[in-house]
Amino acid sequence: MPDPIDTNPQALAEAVRAGDRRALARAITLIESTRADHRASADALLAALLPHTGQSVRLGISGVPGVGKSTFIEAFGLHVIGLGHKVAVLAVDPSSQRTGGSILGDKTRMVDLSREANAFIRPSPAGATLGGVARRTREAMLICEAAGFDVILVETVGVGQSETAVADMVDLFMLLLLPAGGDELQGIKKGIVELADLVVVNKADGDLTATARHTVADYRHALMLLRHGDWRVPVLSCSAVHKIGVDEVWATIGAHRELTEANGQRDRRRAEQARAWLWSEIRETLIDRFRAHPAVRADLARLEDAVTQGAVIPTTAARALLGQFLGDAPPV
Ligand code: GDP
Repeated sequence: MPDPIDTNPQALAEAVRAGDRRALARAITLIESTRADHRASADALLAALLPHTGQSVRLGISGVPGVGKSTFIEAFGLHVIGLGHKVAVLAVDPSSQRTGGSILGDKTRMVDLSREANAFIRPSPAGATLGGVARRTREAMLICEAAGFDVILVETVGVGQSETAVADMVDLFMLLLLPAGGDELQGIKKGIVELADLVVVNKADGDLTATARHTVADYRHALMLLRHGDWRVPVLSCSAVHKIGVDEVWATIGAHRELTEANGQRDRRRAEQARAWLWSEIRETLIDRFRAHPAVRADLARLEDAVTQGAVIPTTAARALLGQFLGDAPPV
């Protein structure tokens, strides 16, 4: 693959807009790069594409490993493509930095979907922080929108903070559940269910049919009062393997979209997400610069030790380091 920097961002933007899949992949490689010169091109690329973004249905999907996310995404993606849509699947998996490659969004897991001309599957970028991974996924989402994908699925694994990051970048956050007891038995972290705009009990088939029905009833009862704006959180069931109930999930997503577009909730949510993204960029960049500052670097370890040993109060140490960073305070 040619170095994305070789391409002029305007030309790359045009190729992305024209539906050139290699250009799409290269555009995402460019925004995932951490090189400063790449970043400048990435900013120019995104600026050129921005007017052509925003028209997709942005969906988040989470659930514990084994719940059937990739099976569901494949069935769901094929269903939606059958209705004439173009589907992009992205992933947020901060653990991919440790394993050197993501388990999420892996093409081998969605063989049929990956063969579709109207599907695009991209694994999670490796990133030092969840913030870094989330930023690149947000940018990849914009690029996919500009390339004409009108349904974007962002997948994450249901084990940590990444759910919040994903819920903060989509219009609707969907949680897949197993036919089993309550949250704890399913290994679902506290507070995750409350993030959901839609709950779906998967594997409602064969021996698990009755258990799935009970799980749906239990969650309907538990979530009776859970609302996001005017939206009451529905609890559905499906069988991703047998492709049963997938159409109802899509219909429910349509109902959510209709309601939240009509009452302004979707636009408010997106505006709030953009504001939060701005502040997280500011925070991350400031902290990176702060850590990289020569005077701070020279003194950080000493002051951290002093603070942990109780010799200096954290407030004083922070003020001293910030003073060095900003060049306006005496050293401690
Ligand atoms: P993920 O880890 O959440 O991505 O889960 P997978 O999609 O890899 O599925 C985990 C296992 O559950 C696989 O063996 C699937 O075949 C199985 N599975 C997924 N969906 C269903 C379903 O609807 N019914 C049944 N019975 N099994 C399913």
